[in-house]
Amino acid sequence: MIHVFGSINVDFVFRMRRMPGPGETVMADESLTLHGGKGANQAVAAARALGRPGGVAMHGAVGDDPFGPVIRAAMEAEGIDVSGIRTVADPTGRAVILLDDTGENSITVAAGANARLQADAPAYGGPGDLLVMQMEVPFDEVAKAATIARAAGCTVLLNLAPAPEGASAEAMADLLGQVDILVVNEHELALACTALGLTAGDSIPAAVAALAARIGCRIIATLGAEGVCRGLPGGDVLTLPAIPVDVVDTTGAGDTFVGAYAAGLAEGLSDEAALQRAVAAAALTCRKVGAQSAMPRAEEIDALLA
Ligand code: ATP
Repeated sequence: MIHVFGSINVDFVFRMRRMPGPGETVMADESLTLHGGKGANQAVAAARALGRPGGVAMHGAVGDDPFGPVIRAAMEAEGIDVSGIRTVADPTGRAVILLDDTGENSITVAAGANARLQADAPAYGGPGDLLVMQMEVPFDEVAKAATIARAAGCTVLLNLAPAPEGASAEAMADLLGQVDILVVNEHELALACTALGLTAGDSIPAAVAALAARIGCRIIATLGAEGVCRGLPGGDVLTLPAIPVDVVDTTGAGDTFVGAYAAGLAEGLSDEAALQRAVAAAALTCRKVGAQSAMPRAEEIDALLA
């Protein structure tokens, strides 16, 4: 079973020719209301990559507002167990995303209900289960959930995104010490290395190897169109290229990667096979607009890898 502990948002997306400056109003050409939040995105990606209901449980918080029931129903329709989604007094988390003609975006997020999320024992399963987390919910609760899951024998996968810039080096070291698999992009890799006092070296593989040895866990660095680099504590480093696709929008590629990778591990694939499936799922997401709206189903991933 895959347990996802993380954020749930409503994304208000506005497409416009150019961004408004301070004090200025600009008319949008199009507006969309989409379901997002890194936690919810990764849960949906995992459920679709698994291709069967009942393999993913979401632990999150929504507000006591009209968005809560709509999001809950949408996740349930993906075959996700939503009994771990709490309803709290704050509004559902929301993001305002402005996109201009050049592909530039500008994003404001209000955490809302996500800031109220608390880790609960013993919610995250045991041996054979996987707890997947990101950093859009309170840092201390992520650390607490990791401790609970580890004590129960559950494997902990942390996607260190968005990079927790304000965390102390000590808090970061404690958190990373509770993790079995760490997924980072280049920026988050540098932040983790700095927090642990590692000189990252002059290459990504060197940084990944140093971090894996230091924390004693599996490190996966996602490198956008360059693919991924995985380091193991013993010093082994593997790189996999991305799969070239006609890119329309890379939003959600990272979340799709994490969800599909978790699904591969939950299905008992080898780590390399799970990584390959995740690379394929993430590439497919880049071919469509949006995050959840673009995430592929198991058959599409299989077809790309066939
Ligand atoms: P985001 O925050 O936009 O979701 P991220 O920074 O967490 O992204 P990336 O490293 O950009 O994550 O992308 C994750 C994975 O998606 C990459 O490792 C790669 O496999 C795939 N990917 C990203 N961009 C492309 C691309 N242009 N073409 C093919 N695959 C891509």
